[in-house]
Amino acid sequence: MNIKVLAFLISTAVLATGAAAPVKMTMKQLAENVYFMENPTGSSNAAFVITNDGVLVFDFDIRTADQTLAAIRKLTDKKIKYIISSHSAGDHATGAWHFREDKPIYIATKNQIHDLQMQEAREFDERKESNDPNNAAYKGKELVRPDIGFDGNMTLYFGGLTFQITAEGRGHSTGDLTVYVPQKRVMFMGDLLDTEIHPGQGESAGVFYSNVKGWIQILDNISARNLPVDTYVPGHGPVHLGRGVKDLEEQKRYFVVMRDEVAKMIAAGKTLEQIEKEFKVPQEFVHYKRPERLKNFYKLFYNQLMETGY
Ligand SMILES: [Zn+2]
Repeated sequence: MNIKVLAFLISTAVLATGAAAPVKMTMKQLAENVYFMENPTGSSNAAFVITNDGVLVFDFDIRTADQTLAAIRKLTDKKIKYIISSHSAGDHATGAWHFREDKPIYIATKNQIHDLQMQEAREFDERKESNDPNNAAYKGKELVRPDIGFDGNMTLYFGGLTFQITAEGRGHSTGDLTVYVPQKRVMFMGDLLDTEIHPGQGESAGVFYSNVKGWIQILDNISARNLPVDTYVPGHGPVHLGRGVKDLEEQKRYFVVMRDEVAKMIAAGKTLEQIEKEFKVPQEFVHYKRPERLKNFYKLFYNQLMETGY
């Protein structure tokens, strides 16, 4: 997902400057040995945890995972032992190739693996063969497939830490997983949480699949666990250190409020085309970045309210 938007942003940069400047990820420490790699353009973030026995990486975009690797190499000589992708979208699950030297074990949900084998593998190959400079990061690379697929939830005991990996169901994508590390009071949310930006419609090789009702339900499910979490780590947008469950509440409120605005327009007899043109973002969300992402969401709110598809 969002590869197209990023491609658009980069192509705009190309027009403006004559060359696409590579996105520089910003590293932030979230807790002892827990690090966040923020994509300042609002595209996908990543994270990693260093343990005595090696490193675990969460999310890897082929265009930026080399920076995650470089950050890890600067901090430790420990090998990357496990990698986990939040969902199958290209901006989260394509970059495992960069870690190949360490031969990590790649864990994903079964439906992510299905998506990777089907749509994403094809899209990866198309981008690899393309001469579009926006796809330069794909040249000579391979889409690495997961080693372990699971349904439900699993626990990984690694380096003295507990990684609770939960398949949360269908929300942003056909299946989103979270990873909770109780010893570090962090939960990696993938694209179930975006901060200070309009959330993205999940997309895998041109197939759109977000489900607002499911997304709200998942946010409720996670909040209802009342976990001791200081920081929920977003898939896109800046991390809010120590803001805890307030981030989940804001994300849920966003969907409820935005959907309600669309519902009011439907009740007033507006068509989807009119909604797309006339929608006014409520005051509390006007500061959110990446408004270009809204277009797909009007359609999503509309179609899911009317039960007419995505
Ligand atoms: Zn994403």
